[in-house]
Amino acid sequence: MGKALIIGAGGVSNVVVHKCCQNPDVFEEICLASRTKAKCDAIVASLPETKTKVTTAQVDADNTQEVVDLIRSFQPDIVINVALPYQDLTIMDACLETGVDYLDTANYEPPDVPKFEYKWQWAYREKFKKAGITALLGSGFDPGVTGVFSAYAQKHYFDEIHTIDILDANAGDHGYSFATNFNPEINIREITANGRYFKDGHWVETEPLEIKKVYDFPQIGEKDIYLLYHEELESLSQNIKGIKQIRFWMTFSQKYLTHLNVLQNVGMTSIEPIEFEGKQIAPIHFLKAVLPDPASLGPRTKGKTNIGCIFQGRKDGKPQTYYVYNICDHEEAYREVGSQAISYTTGVPAMIGAMLMLQGTWKKPGVYNVEEFDPDPFMDALNKHGLPWHESFEPTLLD
Ligand code: NDP
Repeated sequence: MGKALIIGAGGVSNVVVHKCCQNPDVFEEICLASRTKAKCDAIVASLPETKTKVTTAQVDADNTQEVVDLIRSFQPDIVINVALPYQDLTIMDACLETGVDYLDTANYEPPDVPKFEYKWQWAYREKFKKAGITALLGSGFDPGVTGVFSAYAQKHYFDEIHTIDILDANAGDHGYSFATNFNPEINIREITANGRYFKDGHWVETEPLEIKKVYDFPQIGEKDIYLLYHEELESLSQNIKGIKQIRFWMTFSQKYLTHLNVLQNVGMTSIEPIEFEGKQIAPIHFLKAVLPDPASLGPRTKGKTNIGCIFQGRKDGKPQTYYVYNICDHEEAYREVGSQAISYTTGVPAMIGAMLMLQGTWKKPGVYNVEEFDPDPFMDALNKHGLPWHESFEPTLLD
């Protein structure tokens, strides 16, 4: 059916490539390109036999012209961006110049300002519309599936959704004292930023990890959860009409937080460059270099993730509550594609988003977040491609 250019060769990319190759009728040809070509070659070498034709290439995606040249030579139908959020705009520019559809899993962030905002990418709406191409933003799990869950709840179970609580639990254990499950820089920037949630039409700001609760997760048990700002809150607060409150919660163990506190107290999480032996270096880049590579956690991680959304609102004049969630097992994910569940739960929805775009099911010129499309085909695909979901109409509530 089509050709995909996949940019980035980290943990998420490994899953996307494996899952695309499991669907060779849709992904007939793939070019996997990244800054370090050897990492692309290693992913390809790990693939089981597939009918999909796979090639690799080197590209610096900070350089729009390099991406344009690669697109012109490979001629893909879609570019799947699973590099870092810093590359979103340069890759979107290249897609505009060549007239190719675009998908990513995380919103643009300027490297020197830890700010998760869609404004830079939403500014491309008119340009994509005029060019007749689609950009699908945030097609991972959160953002991604959480937006699809929200659109599904809205479509099938609610006349009005009043509150959404997004709960992201990871009960995986990799045996290291401290490691992050995905890119350490992005992960630490997210956690050390102020918390924020949407209430009654405005944003309420908190200190980092100031609000804590305990939640008893299906199949995982009781966990400490902390309120964080997360990028899908911005799009959902606009796309779920009449919403009064949206909060995002993530689990962290005491051990993880103690390590993070120490690293922060000694300045290791700072993005401000310092001079070291005649070189400018951001401490967080050095920290990333000494921490375990998230891609290496796969074979060591045991346990499960549980990510989902609890909705409260009204249906047919009555109060309604709905909880929809996925449980993903780290070891099963590793057995299937050689990555732990965090990369798996991001890579599968990226493949599904790309599949729906290639099939023409999710395609309209412009720049869209996932909740702006019909959720049903995506929900069906989650069940088929490794992320089945469960639902409950009487969940335990947070308050
Ligand atoms: P990794 O750090 O493992 O991989 C990133 C890859 O991008 C690396 O291969 C890196 O190359 C490559 N890269 C970085 N800069 C460039 C560049 N200028 N040009 C070309 N390639 C480049 O990250 P993950 O796989 O963990 O995450 C990938 C994306 O997924 C991130 O944007 C992350 O924020 C997002 N994500 C989204 C989630 C969701 O649920 N929505 C959850 C988890 C992650 P090199 O190896 O040479 O450094």
